Amino acid sequence: MKLYLEGLTCANCAGKIERLVAKMPNVNDASFSMATGTLNIEEDIDFSEETTFEAVVKLVKSLEPHVVVRKTKGHKIDKTASHCHDGSCNIVHGEKEGAHEGQHHDHEAHHQHGHEHGGMEKREKIELLIAMILFVGGFFAKALLPSSLALVSMGIFLGAYLLAGYHVIIMALKNIGHGQIFDENFLMAIATVGALILGEWPEAAGVMIFFGVGEYFQAKAVDNARNAISETIHFSAENAHLIDGENTRTIEASKVKAGDQILVKPGEKIPADGQVVEGLSYLDTSPLTGESYPRKAELGDPVLSGMINGNEVLKIKVTKDYEDSTAVKIMHLIEEASDRKGKTEKFITRFSRYYTPTVVISALVLAILPPLLIEGASFETWIYQSLIFLVVSCPCALVLSIPISYFGGIGRASKEGILIKGGNYLDVLYQADTFVFDKTGTLTYGEFSVLQMLLADDVSQESFFQAAAAGEFFSNHPIAEAVRNYTKTQIQESALSDYKEIPGKGTQVKFNNQYIQVGNQAFFNESDIKTPTWEGQGTVVYVAIDNQYAGMLILGDQIKENAADMVRGLKNLGIKNTVMLSGDNQKTADRVGQVLGLDQVIGDCLPQDKVSEFEQIKEKSRKTVYVGDGMNDAPVLAISDAGIAMGGLGSDAAIEAADIILMKDDPLDILKSVDIAKYTRKIMIQNIVLALGIKFLVLGLTVLGYGEMYMAIFADVGAAVITILNTTRILKYKGRASRSSVSDPSLRPKEVN
Ligand code: ADP
Ligand code: MG
Repeated sequence: MKLYLEGLTCANCAGKIERLVAKMPNVNDASFSMATGTLNIEEDIDFSEETTFEAVVKLVKSLEPHVVVRKTKGHKIDKTASHCHDGSCNIVHGEKEGAHEGQHHDHEAHHQHGHEHGGMEKREKIELLIAMILFVGGFFAKALLPSSLALVSMGIFLGAYLLAGYHVIIMALKNIGHGQIFDENFLMAIATVGALILGEWPEAAGVMIFFGVGEYFQAKAVDNARNAISETIHFSAENAHLIDGENTRTIEASKVKAGDQILVKPGEKIPADGQVVEGLSYLDTSPLTGESYPRKAELGDPVLSGMINGNEVLKIKVTKDYEDSTAVKIMHLIEEASDRKGKTEKFITRFSRYYTPTVVISALVLAILPPLLIEGASFETWIYQSLIFLVVSCPCALVLSIPISYFGGIGRASKEGILIKGGNYLDVLYQADTFVFDKTGTLTYGEFSVLQMLLADDVSQESFFQAAAAGEFFSNHPIAEAVRNYTKTQIQESALSDYKEIPGKGTQVKFNNQYIQVGNQAFFNESDIKTPTWEGQGTVVYVAIDNQYAGMLILGDQIKENAADMVRGLKNLGIKNTVMLSGDNQKTADRVGQVLGLDQVIGDCLPQDKVSEFEQIKEKSRKTVYVGDGMNDAPVLAISDAGIAMGGLGSDAAIEAADIILMKDDPLDILKSVDIAKYTRKIMIQNIVLALGIKFLVLGLTVLGYGEMYMAIFADVGAAVITILNTTRILKYKGRASRSSVSDPSLRPKEVN
């Protein structure tokens, strides 16, 4: 089950909720994603989700009353919500339509959400403001009033303190009840009560106000970062115009079902995948591909949800429900990316496990040892210094900013039409030293054209065409398409039987009474069919009728524009080894490798050879990325450290199989993903150095006795705010990998292999 915890922006509380939910009966595991605010709960199957949901709501309400628990993302006001006085009750309606439905709809609303939810309610903000005014007033009173009236200024400071900190103290008391002692609330309560006891009234008030302000900015920064990211990954339309007989009606996009007819006006996003039934327009595909090059859509053309209609009204027959359409699928895919935690994120979790107790124990030592050992040192001073230690004991800045960095990188990439399925794959991208490519459809367009035909002596062109077309009738391979186009021979499907396709080799089929075989030389050798050998360039397709060689077709493909730039760019980014694996013959493969400047070319590879070759390459490298097109190379995609699929737009298979999907067919996007991964990494390192630097500086000063509570709070929430702001730079990153200026397809280099 997946729940959205809106307004949960505090690292400690999130960890606590995660732990307590995981301990609930019938829950196997729970993990919270800081980047998206989602709590993933793994439950025993034979248990009602509703019960767990209610238990989570209760728990969250007791720990963090301002957090809203939802089954769906978004900020849509439900009918029941209007009766609420606090934000937390619109959870109670619990979306009765059931979790499956509930999880999926409502996306259209989520970009509006959040600004009110910065983890702090309006009332608290006003209280904090009044506390500040009182605080300043307290100093005036102290300075202006005679000392006989000192009680007045003390009263004002106390008022400021209580106003700014009463909920901190209440939370601290509640948490002690839960047996959860060391959280920020508790530490702040102890630190300030300590100050009050020591007679430092202004200090107590000031610290509490500073803490409140810090928390406010921290919550706001987290919230803004989350919103900014979710905006970049927001692909779907909000409304749709349903054609209902003579009329059209505007409905929520999520209600659109396959079979509906809809109108899409100029400038609107297409709400669901479908087919044009009327009109001609140009579509902006940039929300999906990052590229706004207009794509023509006319009668019969398929259109995908998320694309923006250009100049004319289009009438579309919907072919997939809103939920199953491309835009929603992609959004889910990216959201789920935060479930796969990156290495740095895991490191931070492990680090926190040692850091916090270490600092807490040091705090104890600091309170006790110096007064005992150093002459003249008072317990009062050192207890105060140890309280400072406690405040610095939360690794909040890192726990908050690292997951957001990963998700920022993923969001930034999605703006380019690059979908990354997890933070762990960003890690692979920046570490990789070896890139392995498939040839056809990856480095070449995979759009073959027949260059030459050679027939066996006693075979007529007509029977050769029949055989070739029959053999390729069922195949989806780009070669098959080229052969069908070339032969232009109609085949009755009923005349075909016993079809078999052998990946990396070819096909076999019974056609009327003939036994047809189509494929490469290796395949024919295996079947003991004698073939002439082609000495020239090109991809060769042999055809046999009843185990007799009947003729061959020589096909040519084109190397993709930008492919050479991409290989050169990878070298510049420090990639050691570039390799191509191809099922095509070695000669053709070598030629492509030469043009592109690849380090190594392995041809004549069957799919299983690709796997074993890849394993050998992988052994010799640090991290290996495989780039393919999802055709015949799913096993290699699966064993690579990160598998990239090219041209994913509209291909469900590629989206399923790969770890990283390039929606458009541009090799330069490979470079861009590496570039974004490296930049994300850089920002994370900066954040770690910054956050830990500030903390250790404060800890150091404190050990020396120069600690101040203000510094500690700065090292806590201030560092968090700075690192989160730094993280949002990822979203704005311009990128080093520049686009090629040539985008007109007619200017593609005509490189025939
Ligand atoms: P690549 O590794 O270049 O992407 P594939 O593994 O998809 O190539 O295919 C390898 C080879 O297998 C092709 O070059 C072709 O010779 C042969 N082949 C595969 N499928 C077919 C088919 N349907 N018809 C003819 N030949 C095929
Ligand atoms: Mg291929």
